[in-house]
Amino acid sequence: MVRTLFIEGTYFAAAVLFILGLQSLTRTEGAQRGMQQAMVGMLLAVVGTLVNHGIVDYRWIAVGLVLGTVLGYPLGMLAPMTAMPQAIAASHMFGAIAATLVGVAEYYNARGAVGSATMTALGFETMLGALTVTGSFMAFGKLQGVVIDRPLTFRGQNAVNLGMFGAMVAIFIYLIASPVHPALFYTMLGLGLLIGVTMVLPIGGADMPVVISLLNSYAGLASAATGFAIGNNVLIIAGALDGASGFLLSILMSKAMNRSFANVLFGAFGTAPTGAAKTAVGLTVRSISPEDAAMQLAYAGEVIIIPGYGMAVAQSQHQVRELAEQIEKRGGTVKYAIHPVAGRMPGHMNVLLAEANVPYDRLYDMEEINAEFDHADVALVIGANDVVNPAARTDQGSPIYGMPILNADHAKSVIVLKRSMNPGFAGIENELFYAPKTSMLFGDAKSSLTKLVSEVKTV
Ligand code: NDP
Repeated sequence: MVRTLFIEGTYFAAAVLFILGLQSLTRTEGAQRGMQQAMVGMLLAVVGTLVNHGIVDYRWIAVGLVLGTVLGYPLGMLAPMTAMPQAIAASHMFGAIAATLVGVAEYYNARGAVGSATMTALGFETMLGALTVTGSFMAFGKLQGVVIDRPLTFRGQNAVNLGMFGAMVAIFIYLIASPVHPALFYTMLGLGLLIGVTMVLPIGGADMPVVISLLNSYAGLASAATGFAIGNNVLIIAGALDGASGFLLSILMSKAMNRSFANVLFGAFGTAPTGAAKTAVGLTVRSISPEDAAMQLAYAGEVIIIPGYGMAVAQSQHQVRELAEQIEKRGGTVKYAIHPVAGRMPGHMNVLLAEANVPYDRLYDMEEINAEFDHADVALVIGANDVVNPAARTDQGSPIYGMPILNADHAKSVIVLKRSMNPGFAGIENELFYAPKTSMLFGDAKSSLTKLVSEVKTV
């Protein structure tokens, strides 16, 4: 009785902390606290589970603890910020392996002799878990470059995928009515694993963050189903929260890229530019020296900084803050314009700038800041490309047509820091770089910013 009360008490506290954690994560300034709340919640859930009387042998748990630490610690501590999407894919894969194994073990131990309700939960858990395991592995592989990252398509692919999916669901429904068919159960498991691979094959590496977020929601649902199968409340709540937030995040990311889910999943985006997209033939570029760029910044009244993926690659967020401080010392104001899909994961820029102690109140969302570009003296673009590409407004042949962008081109002048004229994520030219008011400061963002900081000091 006391033990049950303790377990349910820890589960209840864990569930409350998970919800509070999610709520804190909705604001940049609460993000760290949100993670801490969720971590304490997870610790309580683990402690509650460890005293469960259903545990007959702690040795395997000890093995799991060692293995989990050996895999999890380097994953969290050593993966650089730019590799976060694949680190997250890997952690989903491990979560899904756990859910799938629990489903298989429950079915195996009962020799299939389970009721329809339990079979429904086990089926969801095993199907969704299995396709998340291989889907996440493929997403990890594409992002890490160990699996070909371009979309692999063949004629009739969608029909084949839908056919396999239909077969898996048909087996699942049959098993609910008649669970004692181990061969069918394991066929369903195999189909789930196969679908995970074939589902991700036609999607380009560039779209993997959305796919990972979607797989996150499957892993969440698989965990919730596990909770139903083994009668564990905290798994049901955590799984439902995980599933719902992953799904909502996928929708938000697709919306911010002006893409539909169907387009992400079947559109083979992020590889080659479309034939109709504009090229840079005949356009000229004006490059600028760090000295001249520093002069312009030092005398500017209002500067809007637009960070992008290149800032993350160069890890130049600290130099960005130093430059902003120097401009402000000289009487200018500096604001940061944050595009919802700048970088490679939601909140990427916010996290990096927070790490460099940029005050939260200087960070502005796209809708808040876009009108301000009209009176900004300089739009300083640091390793961003697609999020300031005017083709999104004007070029119907562009793969990013319709994506809302930051109005950098409305500022009186634009300075762009990047290494070359190479395109960004969408693989297309950016007319902004050729505009008469734009100056390109070529070089790695970190070294260019370091030079700019010292130059502004001497102006
Ligand atoms: P982009 O990928 O469009 O461009 C980044 C630019 O950074 C490149 O053109 C590159 O040019 C430059 N760069 C790379 N390394 C460095 C460096 N060391 N120093 C200076 N510059 C560098 O980035 P954006 O942030 O503008 O746009 C994000 C894109 O990612 C959007 O298309 C978005 O849809 C997509 N996306 C975002 C997701 C998210 O959740 N945030 C998820 C999935 C996709 P060069 O090589 O010449 O230096």
